[in-house]
Parts: sequence; structure tokens; C-alpha cells
Amino acid sequence: MTVTTELAGAHYPVAVVGGGQAGLSVSYCLRERGIEHIVIEANRAGHEWRERRWDSFCLVTPNWQCKLPGFPYRGPDPDGFMVRDEILRYLEDYVSFFRPPLVEGVSVTRLRRAATGVFELSTTAGDLTADQVVVATGPYHTPSVPRMAERLPAGVTQLHSSRYRHPGPLPEGAVLVVGTGQSGCQIAEDLHLAGRQVHLAVGSAPRVARFYRGRDCVAWLDEMGHYAKGIDRFGDADAVRMRVNHYVTGRDGGRDIDLRAFARDGMRLYGRLTGVNGATLEFADDLKAALDHADSVAEGIKDAIDAHITAHGIDAPEEPRYVPVWEPSEQPHDVDLAAAGITSVIWSTGFARDHRWIEIPVFDGRGYPMHRRGATSCPGLHFLGLPWQYSWGSGRFEAVGRDAEFLAGHIDASRRLADVCGTLTGAPMALAAALPVG
Ligand SMILES: Cc1cc2nc3c(=O)[nH]c(=O)nc-3n(C[C@H](O)[C@H](O)[C@H](O)COP(=O)(O)OP(=O)(O)OC[C@H]3O[C@@H](n4cnc5c(N)ncnc54)[C@H](O)[C@@H]3O)c2cc1C
Repeated sequence: MTVTTELAGAHYPVAVVGGGQAGLSVSYCLRERGIEHIVIEANRAGHEWRERRWDSFCLVTPNWQCKLPGFPYRGPDPDGFMVRDEILRYLEDYVSFFRPPLVEGVSVTRLRRAATGVFELSTTAGDLTADQVVVATGPYHTPSVPRMAERLPAGVTQLHSSRYRHPGPLPEGAVLVVGTGQSGCQIAEDLHLAGRQVHLAVGSAPRVARFYRGRDCVAWLDEMGHYAKGIDRFGDADAVRMRVNHYVTGRDGGRDIDLRAFARDGMRLYGRLTGVNGATLEFADDLKAALDHADSVAEGIKDAIDAHITAHGIDAPEEPRYVPVWEPSEQPHDVDLAAAGITSVIWSTGFARDHRWIEIPVFDGRGYPMHRRGATSCPGLHFLGLPWQYSWGSGRFEAVGRDAEFLAGHIDASRRLADVCGTLTGAPMALAAALPVG
């Protein structure tokens, strides 16, 4: 749904850039506070879920964690995991529910701040200005593919995980999946279930069991306060923000992803892919360490759940611990593509941030926006939807609404302060700079 709006030359109290769940959430919260704004979306609302997830994709987080402001999941399966099309419908229904002032098909190509304090946005539909801006363009911008990809023989089909849809279009033969984050593990499973011979380069991601002692581990962790813990309660906030997600799946009602079980059932596992040398793939000797690490994290989470159960005298069924079903023996360091029959490679190697269009100095050495609960040191410039922006669920459905509510409150307070300052001095936005956050 798109409002018909002339953007060129317009001025808005707030401009929200991005119409994913973060942009829509803050739009709802601004609407609730009666704050006029515009949401500018380069594609269509929900674009990422529509265009960059594979056909069998489903959430790894249970549906009850989908808590968009004013529109929590109310479907029949709160403990289930929405598949891609259901997630899209959830977002589309959200748009129909509160009808945000959304302009679709327009990219913001440059953001600057004038000396007056007003924000200048260049867009593909003309230039506009705003008193405040919320950047809600998501955490995953440019697909990351290591440059060794250039050394693969021309005949090998290569794609990034964001372009994978289903096994069908891949050429016949074995598939190498590189990376074992959420995407790599789920895509490897998708291919494996379709009967493809999968070779998997295993990385350092940890895993978590789906269920333990009668409940989804996410439900236990929620009860234990894990998801409510703010980033300011961690001594190593920067490291926490960079943590890799645990792998697990919501497929078919939810289950573990056990790479050892995949190997037992015929998948070929290796350590990290370290090089491509002609038709030879080179792997590190770290498969055993990676599998042991993933298991020890999963078992450590179970230890914490056990301790919680004991401390609170909870009546929960006992459950035997995980016993590895496969151990790596002589793993090859070098694999010949032709001998292994590998005809395609799926790079499940993550994404890089791209905020180059923001010409305001609020980024650290890694290009991460420096902020406190989304508010940057540039008054009026905010971010929403960053991983660990404030808590575990900030970049997810779980807490984006909580962050949006906080940010809308901050924006509201800034506006009120600016109004007072403007009345007293005639210099509104610049004086709102002094407003403390939180
Ligand atoms: C493989 C994968 C699995 C995930 N699984 C889960 C899960 O199980 N549970 C969960 O809660 N979360 C999950 N997430 C995380 C998260 O929910 C998604 O990444 C979600 O898409 C983030 O929403 P967002 O609104 O912050 O950003 P996005 O959905 O990325 O939306 C950003 C929007 O901004 C637009 N945009 C970008 N740049 C511009 C610009 N310059 N001008 C205008 N518009 C622009 C884009 O078109 C896009 O629509 C997963 C993510 C990935 C990648």
C-alpha cells in the first residue's frame, strides 16, 4: 500500500527510511503519538522476506515472539514457526491494519545535515527535508562473498544464500555450502532433504537445542530473563553485538540442526574453506573443534536451564543429554571439485553493512553506527533494527517493537523540547541536541 505523496520539496517532522518490520514498527509508534512522518521504502514493504529468503524458509524464533507494536501474532500456532509466506502476510496485514504513510519504490540515496540542523534527504523521487530521521534499512545490506570465489572454475555455478530459492535451478551434481550460520545450515538441510549430495564447510557458529525438558529452549530462556537483558548490562558490549547466531530450525514444527547427524546420513563435512586453488578446494583442520564447540554451547545452555529449573523448583521432565552421533576421522584438507562432483557453490557467508549514503559522521571503525538505544550523537538521527541495538531481540521480531516504542518516545520528547526552545529562542532543532537519552 503506497500513499500518493509528492516527496520533492516536502518537509516532514520525521522521515523513516526503510519499510521492513523496523520501519513499520516505528511508524506505528509515531502514529500513536500523533507525530506526522513519512516512511520511504526502496522496494515494497517486507521486501527482505519476500525477495531474499528461500522457498522453505521458516522462522527459527517461535511465533509468540512476533510482537509488532499493536499487532502481536494472534494466529492458531503461537509455539510454531511461520513459513516465509506467512511472515510476509503478517507484515502485509500489519500495513493494512494501521495504514502507515508509506511511499514504496523510492530509495534514499543521500542523507546530510544542513548547518540549520535540518536533515536533507535525496531520493529517487526528489529531495525532501526532515527534522528527524530514523534509519531502518535493516542489518543485512550487501551479500558478502569472499574473493576466493573469483578463483573457482567458470563452469561452477555460484550464488549467495540470499539468492537461493530451492534445489531445482541448481545444475545436477553435488553442492558445496560454505558457512554454517542460520542460512548455511538451513540451506544445507534443504538440499540434503531433496536428495542432493551436500559438502558443507563448517564455521564457528554455536548451536542450541530446539527443545529441552519439555519446552522450547527459547521459552526457557525467555522465562530466565535472557531476552530482556539490555546491552548495557554486558561488560563486553562490542563483542556481544558481533556474536554469531546459534543454529537451530523451526522447520516441520521445529528440531535441532545436528551437523553430525547430517554427516552420519551422508553429508560431507569439512573445516573452514581457506582457499580455492584451480579445481582444488582447501579446508582448515578445524572441523572437530567447530563441532565440539557447537555442542558444548548447546549443552551449556541446557546446564543453565537445569539450574533455573532447580532454583525455582519447576516440575519438568528429565531428559538425557546429547551424545554425539558421529565423529570426524580423516578429513581431507584438499578436495578436487571434479572428483567430488561439485557443480555449484552456495556462499552462506553473511552480509556487509552499507551506510555510505549517510554523509554524517556517526560510525565507528567497523562502520557500525555509534548510538545509545538507537539515538546517535547527531541530534535527530536515529537507527532502528540493528542487531543487539539494545537487546537480543532488537534485530528480530522479538524486541524491535520495544526499541521502536523507546525511540518514538525519544523523538516525541525531542520535539517537545524543540518546541519550547523554539518558542523561547526561535532556534528549534539545534537546541534539542541537549536532550539526554533514556
Ligand atoms: C536468513 C535470516 C533468517 C532470519 N530469521 C529470523 C527469525 O527466525 N526470527 C526473527 O525474529 N528474525 C530473523 N531474522 C532477522 C530479522 O528479523 C530480519 O533480518 C528482518 O528482515 C529485519 O527487519 P528490518 O525491518 O530491520 O530490516 P529489513 O527487513 O532488511 O528491511 C529494511 C528495508 O529497508 C529498505 N531500504 C534499504 N535501504 C534503503 C534506502 N536507502 N532507501 C529506502 N529504503 C531502503 C529495504 O528495501 C528493506 O525493505 C533473520 C534474518 C535472516 C537474514
